[in-house]
Amino acid sequence: MFKSNINEKLMSLIDYWKKGKIISNKKVIEAFKKIDRRIFVPEELKEQAYDDIPLPIGFGATISQPTTIAIMTQALELKKGMKVLEIGTGSGYQSAIISSIIGRKGEVISIEIVPELASLAKKNLKKAGITNVEVINADGSKGYEKEAPYDRIIITAASPEIPRHLLKQLKKKGIIVVPVGELFSQRMIKMKKNDKVKIEDLGPFSFVPLKGKKGWGN
Ligand code: SAH
Repeated sequence: MFKSNINEKLMSLIDYWKKGKIISNKKVIEAFKKIDRRIFVPEELKEQAYDDIPLPIGFGATISQPTTIAIMTQALELKKGMKVLEIGTGSGYQSAIISSIIGRKGEVISIEIVPELASLAKKNLKKAGITNVEVINADGSKGYEKEAPYDRIIITAASPEIPRHLLKQLKKKGIIVVPVGELFSQRMIKMKKNDKVKIEDLGPFSFVPLKGKKGWGN
């Protein structure tokens, strides 16, 4: 009963994405069917796992709204075998979705500044049977030089400015997806690294602030 209700909610969400032409990428939709969001939400909120809303995960962080995660994942134009940097692991759900698309030969390096959340994400990813995501407890606002260059970079917290400093950690033709703007309202920016950097605006969103050196500070 409980399970079928969850499936129904997920299917109607996918239906809404298709009808509204919000998400058309089949790989993104498959990933949502494969990775159970319930694993990544707190015990007392599991019934709301497929409501299209962000949910609190503690320490001022949230697991983003499913539609937001789907839009960001689609914007990344992921392919099998890619190496992806995520800044802001939170629950680990976004990393899990990416991991499912890039496959076993791909790799996600995900940086989380709050030690307790880094541990939580590791636990959640293990429960979900995911082995190609490396969670690192550090300030990711400067990126993560040690594992660079990356095919893709995704920042899941609000950046005060377009993070041009991350371009040098990105491969040629690489893509960065990041919410940029004020503390409570941002525009989703997609940057493509080429001879000239191409910048696209994907619309308004609202994220928790990016902390750290290149973020809003502590
Ligand atoms: N992708 C997450 C969403 C997490 S919310 C998910 O799917 O659940 C944003 C996260 O970014 C929070 O966990 C917050 O602690 C983290 N964060 C904020 N500033 C950071 C920084 N400078 N480096 C790494 N993580 C940061």
